Amino acid sequence: MIAEVVFHLPISRGFDYLIPEAWGVSVQPGMRVLAPFGARRLVGYVVDVRASSRIRHLKPLLRRIDDEPLITPVQQGLAQQTAQAYACTRGEVYANMLPAALRVRSSPPQESTAPEHESPPTLTSQQAAVFDAFRAAIVSRRPHTFLLHGVTGSGKTELYLRVIAEALAQGRGGICLVPEIAMTPQTIDRFRRRFGDEVVLWHSRLTARQRGEAWGAMKAGSRRVVVGTRSAVFAPLAAVGCLILDEEHDPSYKQDQTPRYHARDVALARARLEGAVVILGSATPSVESYYEAQRRTYRLVCLTERINQRPMPKVEVIDMRDALAHRHRAVMLSDRLSLALRRAVESQEQAILFLNRRGFARVAQCPACGAVRQCHACSTPMIYHATRQQLLCHYCNRSEPLGDTCPSCDRGYLRLRGLGTERVESELHRLFPGISVARMDTDAMAARESHRRLYDAMTSQQVGVLVGTQMVAKGLDLPQVTFVGVISADTSLNLPDFRAGEHTFDLLTQVAGRAGRGERPGRVLIQTYCPTHYAIQAASHHDYEAFYRAEIAMRQRLGLPPCLRLIELTVQGRKAETVERAAETLTRALKQAIGRRRIHLLGPAPHRVAMVRKTIRWRLVLKARRVAPMLEAIRAVLGETRHFHGCPVVIDVDPL
Ligand code: ADP
Ligand code: ZN
Repeated sequence: MIAEVVFHLPISRGFDYLIPEAWGVSVQPGMRVLAPFGARRLVGYVVDVRASSRIRHLKPLLRRIDDEPLITPVQQGLAQQTAQAYACTRGEVYANMLPAALRVRSSPPQESTAPEHESPPTLTSQQAAVFDAFRAAIVSRRPHTFLLHGVTGSGKTELYLRVIAEALAQGRGGICLVPEIAMTPQTIDRFRRRFGDEVVLWHSRLTARQRGEAWGAMKAGSRRVVVGTRSAVFAPLAAVGCLILDEEHDPSYKQDQTPRYHARDVALARARLEGAVVILGSATPSVESYYEAQRRTYRLVCLTERINQRPMPKVEVIDMRDALAHRHRAVMLSDRLSLALRRAVESQEQAILFLNRRGFARVAQCPACGAVRQCHACSTPMIYHATRQQLLCHYCNRSEPLGDTCPSCDRGYLRLRGLGTERVESELHRLFPGISVARMDTDAMAARESHRRLYDAMTSQQVGVLVGTQMVAKGLDLPQVTFVGVISADTSLNLPDFRAGEHTFDLLTQVAGRAGRGERPGRVLIQTYCPTHYAIQAASHHDYEAFYRAEIAMRQRLGLPPCLRLIELTVQGRKAETVERAAETLTRALKQAIGRRRIHLLGPAPHRVAMVRKTIRWRLVLKARRVAPMLEAIRAVLGETRHFHGCPVVIDVDPL
């Protein structure tokens, strides 16, 4: 017998091997094997078992790694579709979905806490209407996609729990995906309280051993409720009734390395394979998903009110140009924001201050020669971190001491300009001596259990003000928070990215949604130098529709997603001239391959950050109505590989 095997390599085709006679007929698709590959021995994945091969003189497999298929038939189907959709290989998808160092056979239970199940609240009439639609879809056992547009605090999560309970009642499992930074103890506790030991977690902070155990439990069917980040969409559950993406607009659902899949698309593919329901939930749906809902590919369901008729927080926009004009210098906290913060602190309420930028200062600049300290390996400024007293590159994570004088001219003392969360924190200590401040960003949350500690400190009122990056915008349900201040809405608005308006609207809406979730009403102040921008205006009026209308008109006018699809090609290499030449030759070759088809080709041009870790990056973009003809043209030029003239080429379908 012959086994066809694929490898974790950028080579799409499978390779045939002889199955040694002595093994009997025990090899099946979905098993891992050890196979000779050139001079190497590689772990591969069996994708087919056949009686014959067109190739003569086949080499025998060396060893069988699994006793039974590790990869389920559904996962095999998903790998196939994902590889096709994102121009990568099945082997790359398998490697991505399997935990490293997997031991399926030993599967002691994952630690769990709350066994006494919590009883669910009675649904509000809005929730009940939406749930009826979900239930009918699940019962039908046919694929359905819903876009659940629900304002913050409207009870979306409660609906997710109900839908999963419905799937379980039918003998099927449920997967709930959450963005990486929303994978907080609070989220986990809610699922555990409802489903106890059925819950299995899947996220990047698990140890290799925990991942192995989780895989075993899912595959064995002993735990059927998966709560996890992006790659949990591939979870080896036997039968899935519902796939939920909470905060479906979150960019972390797109993987930023090969395989560059979007969990939403994989969820849709999986639902088709298993007759499952997909629920995309958000207070700020992605423009892509809302567009599909408008075209009726997804069914739009809405929750327009907060639970218990709690009002939406009152949002005011502060025009920072006034403060600048009065004080003749940029200020961090306007008088209005300081006053509101003081009131909240004095009345024992909690406040959140949001700034989507970590570190202390944006750049370290020499006042004598004007030079900004840049990372040697990446063409980007280094960010000063006061806690570590070092400059840090946010692209490669390299650090350097600040130094006494400017390394360019050796004269001036470096001056720190621009804001980061650390600076906000230190300013708060100066303005409000004695108040207790906590910071929530990737630096402060690096340690295991740091989320749990912070969350406990917030709920027990040990913290008065929480300062943070977008981490504070996601999923926190803290009823004592009455005030939210946005230090600057402009950090995300001014990025050179066509999604800047969308990100800004999302962030402002989400962070504003943290205020007033309890008894007392919430108030939100947004500081900005662009107070009339439609994203800021729409966010301040809680008006998603207004935002969407302005945004989709812009996307249509400029021929941007979702009206057209994009594929981004990045040519990489160490030598600037080689990369530039390869990018130009590739562009010409693609133009030829495209011929008279309706595909736009933009570029090549250096990437926005042209060098990262000493790798030079040039970029070209293809635009068309459909992806398939673009992939065809790319394949016609690159063949089976992802190399061109000696340079690796990254293919990113639907880049974010
Ligand atoms: P969202 O996910 O839309 O932000 P949540 O599901 O977190 O909203 O609901 C907000 C709060 O309201 C939570 O504390 C939740 O427990 C509570 N809640 C949700 N549904 C109900 C209900 N039907 N009755 C009472 N409380 C509810
Ligand atoms: Zn760097």
